[in-house]
Amino acid sequence: AAPGKMSPLILPAWKHVDVKEWFETTFDMPVFVDNDANLGALSECFWGAGSGGEDLTYIKLATGIGAGHIIHGDVYRGAGGMAGEIGHIPVDSNGPLCVCGLRGCLVTLIGSTALTERARELMGTRGRKGPTVRDLVEGARTGDAAAKQIIDGMGAYLGIAVGGLLNLLNPAIVVLGGEISSVGEMLLDPLRASVRQRALSVSMAETRIVTSVLGERAIAVGAATLVLQAALRDRSLFPTQNVGRSA
Ligand SMILES: [Zn+2]
Repeated sequence: AAPGKMSPLILPAWKHVDVKEWFETTFDMPVFVDNDANLGALSECFWGAGSGGEDLTYIKLATGIGAGHIIHGDVYRGAGGMAGEIGHIPVDSNGPLCVCGLRGCLVTLIGSTALTERARELMGTRGRKGPTVRDLVEGARTGDAAAKQIIDGMGAYLGIAVGGLLNLLNPAIVVLGGEISSVGEMLLDPLRASVRQRALSVSMAETRIVTSVLGERAIAVGAATLVLQAALRDRSLFPTQNVGRSA
């Protein structure tokens, strides 16, 4: 959503609240608000998998699936702040109904809920809560065939969206974040195979597809980077008149 506004889809009760304005009024200082995927993109571009690069897409794989695009060193938000809603790209016209009202969105097939439901079917319940994403990661690492099958399927579906992304934006790097991405090559292999079937070979050849370097710190580091970037661009945001005056 636009900076300061919450997604009406994810947080309908907050749709009229401008969080940025509320915090700025309350604390009387500049406040920056952004979504997790955009912040992950910013931090991986500055300090992680794409450091030094200018064109990168970060994909946060969690309950929701969102992408943040860095184009020419800046977060690209789109006209209404909705750029990067990769989770709602339809990948199966006969797929499950999505919260957004469409059918077969990527998130309905490989979001955390879909993954853990599939894990329950194939791996059985683990205690009362059933398999979690962490159980899936551990299963994959220890060679559980069902866990591997689920992650293979995930890579194949994700590749449909990432293939389109490569043809559309041709980013230098695609970074996968979120807990499930910690399985590394086990997800990257089927993903790359799926992308290879869909993206132009030239754009595929120019794009590296990797997992996050910053891991679970990516979003917080991105939030700090957002402030740093703004402060360096506009020195009037944080006046320095008090610096060096302390006793
Ligand atoms: Zn949807």
